[in-house]
Amino acid sequence: MRGKGAGLLQKFVDERGLAVIDVGNDCYVAKLTGHGGLTGLNSSSPFYHAEGVASTLKIGDSHRMKQLALKIDVDTLRGTREGVPRLQSLLQAHAAQATFLFSLGPDHTGRAIKRVFRKGFLGKVQRTSVLEHYGLKTLLYGTLLPGPDIGRLGEAVMHAIQQAGFEVGIHTWDHVAWQDGVARASPQWTDQQMARAEARFLEIFGIRPQVHGAAGWQMNDQAFMHLDQAGIQWASDCRGTTPFIPVVAGRTLTCPQLPTTLPTLDELIGLDGLDAITVAGHLLQLTEAAPPAGHVFTLHAELEGMRLVAVLDQLLRGWQQQGYRLVSLGEMAGTLDLGALPRCRIVHGAIPGRSGTLTLQGEPV
Ligand SMILES: [Zn+2]
Repeated sequence: MRGKGAGLLQKFVDERGLAVIDVGNDCYVAKLTGHGGLTGLNSSSPFYHAEGVASTLKIGDSHRMKQLALKIDVDTLRGTREGVPRLQSLLQAHAAQATFLFSLGPDHTGRAIKRVFRKGFLGKVQRTSVLEHYGLKTLLYGTLLPGPDIGRLGEAVMHAIQQAGFEVGIHTWDHVAWQDGVARASPQWTDQQMARAEARFLEIFGIRPQVHGAAGWQMNDQAFMHLDQAGIQWASDCRGTTPFIPVVAGRTLTCPQLPTTLPTLDELIGLDGLDAITVAGHLLQLTEAAPPAGHVFTLHAELEGMRLVAVLDQLLRGWQQQGYRLVSLGEMAGTLDLGALPRCRIVHGAIPGRSGTLTLQGEPV
């Protein structure tokens, strides 16, 4: 059955000329040959260049050195086992800090394949070949193969990251279920998914989770409110320009959001003729100017920890040459005057190079 299933998918890929990409994170479909056809997607979108709404550094803060927080989303079992250790080595070689956000429940990556058939999905074509860095087996989890339990099978890797002194936090319980379901999910379902991840986190790490970064930048109102109830101290669940306090359903919440401010590598590669050779230079141009509170860059264990590790090496070197301190989300949060942060609404919208709508920082209230 296993061999037959793999064969069927390969046949599908071959005949349609399509591959599913960046599956755990945000499933894309790419033509295996060629790029092109990316009309309407432009990485110089005003979103990425929007001005921050307020300076949020503490007055009298001794280290005014500019900072860039590295947020690492870990989506799959393979990314946990293979990508995370490589990222650990690379970060340590650069004396860089980072926040690792783990997927703690079942790896149902294969279920993302159904997105291939969604109307309009092919319009958001992606660029990098996924079979190369996810492998066929990962693509079958949750469909032809049972979804393995990432928290159980990846526990040793997660412990090693914690013991190496990196910040660890929650990405999700079931990435595919969250990403596909949370926008329309009930408060009960949302609470249940988050509570499962929190219980598993406590079991694995022996501490309560402090930081949350939502799978696929997908949140609903209840998810934001749950962060406060669960005692999450800081979070990076959306895209935006500067740290803020979310205002959801008319309520000003407590847990600050440190949104991802920069485009991801998988969003950029293939746009404007960018490829794995030129993408680092492009991103480094975007970070020449630092917003007052710094940047947040999201990377993936499945990409920067595997096929794009050399690009990340270039980026880390480049950011340090630009004078950035490479920090965890917790370190960045520690430099903020939470009382002075802008209060912003939450909105949902598209991001260049990524399919569907994402949770975004809205206008200040
Ligand atoms: Zn993810």
